[in-house]
Amino acid sequence: MPPDKKVVVIGAGISGLTSAYLLDKEGFDVTVLEQKDAVGGSIESYFDNGFLFDRGPNSALETTPLISKLIEELELKEQFVYANKKGNRRYILRDNQLFALPMSPPAFIKTKLFSTKAKLRLFAEPFIKRSSDGYYQSIAEFVTRRLGKEFLDYAINPFVAGVYAGNPEDLSVKSAFPKLFALEEEYGGLIVGTIRSIRKRKKRKEQSKQSAKMLSFIDGMQVLPEAIKISLGEKVNLSSPVISVKRTTEGKYGVVYSHGNQQFTILTDIVLSTAPAYKAADLFGLFDDRLRRHLNEIYYPPVLVLYLGYKTEDVGQPLDGFGFLIPSKEKKSFLGAIWSSVIFPNRAEEDKAAFTLFIGGSRNPGFADKDENDVINIARGEFEEIMKITGSPVYTSKRFWQKAIPQYTIGYVEHENYFDHFEKDNKGIFLSGNYRGGISVGDCIKNAEIVVNKIKSL
Ligand SMILES: Cc1cc2nc3c(=O)[nH]c(=O)nc-3n(C[C@H](O)[C@H](O)[C@H](O)COP(=O)(O)OP(=O)(O)OC[C@H]3O[C@@H](n4cnc5c(N)ncnc54)[C@H](O)[C@@H]3O)c2cc1C
Repeated sequence: MPPDKKVVVIGAGISGLTSAYLLDKEGFDVTVLEQKDAVGGSIESYFDNGFLFDRGPNSALETTPLISKLIEELELKEQFVYANKKGNRRYILRDNQLFALPMSPPAFIKTKLFSTKAKLRLFAEPFIKRSSDGYYQSIAEFVTRRLGKEFLDYAINPFVAGVYAGNPEDLSVKSAFPKLFALEEEYGGLIVGTIRSIRKRKKRKEQSKQSAKMLSFIDGMQVLPEAIKISLGEKVNLSSPVISVKRTTEGKYGVVYSHGNQQFTILTDIVLSTAPAYKAADLFGLFDDRLRRHLNEIYYPPVLVLYLGYKTEDVGQPLDGFGFLIPSKEKKSFLGAIWSSVIFPNRAEEDKAAFTLFIGGSRNPGFADKDENDVINIARGEFEEIMKITGSPVYTSKRFWQKAIPQYTIGYVEHENYFDHFEKDNKGIFLSGNYRGGISVGDCIKNAEIVVNKIKSL
């Protein structure tokens, strides 16, 4: 048992809640302060008119055993659901047609998604040398060098849009796709590395993102943060934005927050911030101006999530997959669409189909300055054409994220190094959340365990 140390966790997204849950189990005296009147942060599930709309993440990948541990301890087994096997099939748009992404060597040989030239190019991959400047190399340069331009355009470009709502030319391969980069570093190439690392992971009981199972909950992703909130009880304070953090003369920290019209201060040994970088900049900028600059430099592009429900009989495209992603070369107004009701139950009534479209990201942040109805109508028209839909939507909903997902851009390592440096200089302050160590829900859960271990060893 650790000494009875006080920890204030800022933010009740999945990073903050998982950390608080683990700290509580370790015997720390935990208080969570969340500015909104609900937990989950980017995770928002919304029931309306027979549809269930996950307005942020639609699913998580089971990349860490901690997820199943949480599900068991929080008694969520009846709510928990793996994605329908159809979800393994993912489509990519090319020349206005959907092609299934090949998931096996024979499927790769047969696919029409890639030209013969692009397929032959892959044979050269094991003979390509390592690069030297990983930190300053974009994922686009890395993939073009190792796998060729067509692979970048029709596999990685749409994939980066699907994960980060990002641009492969802007993202650092080492910071945004550390495992991919590590394959080159450790094994000299992607093909050899993939085979060898599968063996290693099996021993560690970890799953790679490619093979990890996709999961959610019958009532949507928000089930998980809600369950953690219930387990923590009164330790979670909603509608309680943190206004400032100060160092006190006793070597502790004073966390000032408001609730209703009043202000309160909590005296604490440890402050764990999981607020987004641009919010943490305001809270900790007074401690260190360089930290403020690093945090403020992290770019979060806007994303509009559009949710459309149709009668299934009006959808001409066979609904046998996860959905599709759109390469930027295809010049569409949206990034891709998830076939929500195909993958998870309870997303729509029996005879309806529900789809989640993503618009904008760093591929097209300018959409946010245009008329929203125009943006929606154009995306809807393109979507209906691709999906061979004949009728109008029976349900439409949307969620605009002004600052959606942090982009781990080239040179991100300088931010990462500075955050380490700041934590060393300011004992008891920890910076966490999805701008450190990965943006996926699975990574946020994994990182919660890492930061809790750091706190334990303070
Ligand atoms: C549209 C969208 C789709 C996504 N899809 C997926 C997906 O399918 N799969 C996947 O794995 N990931 C997905 N992600 C990414 C993933 O959802 C997020 O990276 C993750 O949920 C972030 O969790 P977090 O706790 O680190 O941050 P957040 O969820 O941002 O939580 C931070 C919390 O801090 C609070 N806060 C901020 N300032 C203060 C303050 N001053 N005082 C108190 N509280 C404060 C905020 O209100 C918020 O609740 C998606 C993200 C978005 C936006």
